[in-house]
Amino acid sequence: MKREYPMFSRFKSLFEIRCIILFLVLPGVLVFPEASRAGVKNVIIIVADGMGFQQVALLNAYAKYAPNSIYRARGRKTALEAMTEAGVAGFVYHEAADVLVTDSAASATQFSSGKWAGSEMLGVDKDGNPTVTILERAEQLGKSTGLVSDTRITHATPAAFAAHQPHRSMENEIAVDMLNNDVDVMLGGGLRYWIPRSANDRKSEIHRELTKRTQGKVKITSKRKDGRNLLQEAESKGYKTVFTKEQLAGAQGNKVLGLFSPSGMPDGIWQTLNEKSPGRTVPNLKEMTAKAIEVLSKNDKGFFLMVEAGQIDWAGHANDAGTMLHELIQFDETLNYVLSWARSRNDTLLIVTADHETGGFGFSYSRANVPEARDFPGDRFKGRKFKPSFNFGNHGILDKIYKQKLSYGRILSRFYQLPKARQTPAAMAEIINANTEFPITEEEGARILKVERNKYYAKGNKYLDQDVFPKIDDFDAFYVYGDNIRTDLIARVVAAQQNVVWSTGTHTNALVPIIAYGPEDVTSWFSRMSHTTEWGQYAMDVLTK
Ligand code: MG
Ligand code: ZN
Repeated sequence: MKREYPMFSRFKSLFEIRCIILFLVLPGVLVFPEASRAGVKNVIIIVADGMGFQQVALLNAYAKYAPNSIYRARGRKTALEAMTEAGVAGFVYHEAADVLVTDSAASATQFSSGKWAGSEMLGVDKDGNPTVTILERAEQLGKSTGLVSDTRITHATPAAFAAHQPHRSMENEIAVDMLNNDVDVMLGGGLRYWIPRSANDRKSEIHRELTKRTQGKVKITSKRKDGRNLLQEAESKGYKTVFTKEQLAGAQGNKVLGLFSPSGMPDGIWQTLNEKSPGRTVPNLKEMTAKAIEVLSKNDKGFFLMVEAGQIDWAGHANDAGTMLHELIQFDETLNYVLSWARSRNDTLLIVTADHETGGFGFSYSRANVPEARDFPGDRFKGRKFKPSFNFGNHGILDKIYKQKLSYGRILSRFYQLPKARQTPAAMAEIINANTEFPITEEEGARILKVERNKYYAKGNKYLDQDVFPKIDDFDAFYVYGDNIRTDLIARVVAAQQNVVWSTGTHTNALVPIIAYGPEDVTSWFSRMSHTTEWGQYAMDVLTK
């Protein structure tokens, strides 16, 4: 931003001018490495999909109270907490147009464009007209742009910044939109929408070529209905295409397309357990984000970047507290990196928020396993013990939740890998007991298996047959995704042991947090209750005005 300051013409000597400049600029330099009136050059939005305040409470309780908390061991607080101290926080409501609840597509459309959107619609306003997104406005200004997600890069949250389609499920069309949009850096999962249909033939040339290029680390499977090879198209537009952590690290140039998984990337538990493993070829969210910032920050005009921690939501749909905790930690590690990058400068607005809450999660007290009476040192307990009426949950539960070894989704996959005849309640209990700290009985295994397994039957915009939905005891209608019905039943079986309850298999309209860090004159706005359309519009104004 260049401004004329006619007042300087009044000072004749160079020395005087130097003194004035020092006087004006020095205090700013002491507070910020760059002049405080330089304006906002970069906007980074981190979307923790499905992270309502209750999910924040899980991360916070784990960090502060788990006897073996990794945060306590490292002597630090969560990055999220540090950001609330360094920045400005507010509340966000997020319902889609004309309804009470939102999905991720409408919510992301609303904050990417500032326009109201219909649920499941992507990058279009409530009437169905294409929106103009903050990413597109950044492009018009010559800024670099990036999208990072640990789900598929064509999934609702990232796609809402760079695609315009009537329904979020149209990921083949979304991939084309995103490529046409010329987003400089795209990193995530979802290779299957970028490679030609012929790649499904294991004997085809393209299958062999892709197997080689992905070093056999990414399953080659296509969901495309046509022969378009979007990787090749991307390369001809100047993208470097990468498929492993090492290829990502070595990628040069200003445009990078990284697809590290056929669909979603590995879950948070996997990422935690494999973080230090030398054989890991899949990057984690922090590594993808660091690379994106490295590439985008080369542009002197600045950049826009959206990073999605997208599987907090998936764990919420599965009602899987252990996986959700690890997703939150993956998110927080990423935030820790970005926050310290943003702190080293004063030209960046960093926004952290969620698109909605998933699962209606919460710790809760119960009448199960009520603790024994015990002594307390205070005067009022001289000569008498205190006997709680209820079980308010002990801190040890947090360590046990952290110690889960497999997500509920992968527990079920392991079960289905057994020969049909061995898919028994006892086998279900055995797999759960080997991979979680909350043992269940064979009888409880039977409760999980009492509902039929479902295929994932979403096809196009419609669920094919409502009758295939199994009946569970209550709230049936809120369990809408195939196999989640069984993961949700695992959650119910272990609920009393975890002191954890869930109210739904979908989303709630619970308010979500928003935290902004950056120049104070820009961030002070966020101290309010805003709708996704409002803060989205504000972020766009900050970047483009
Ligand atoms: Mg999402
Ligand atoms: Zn969701």
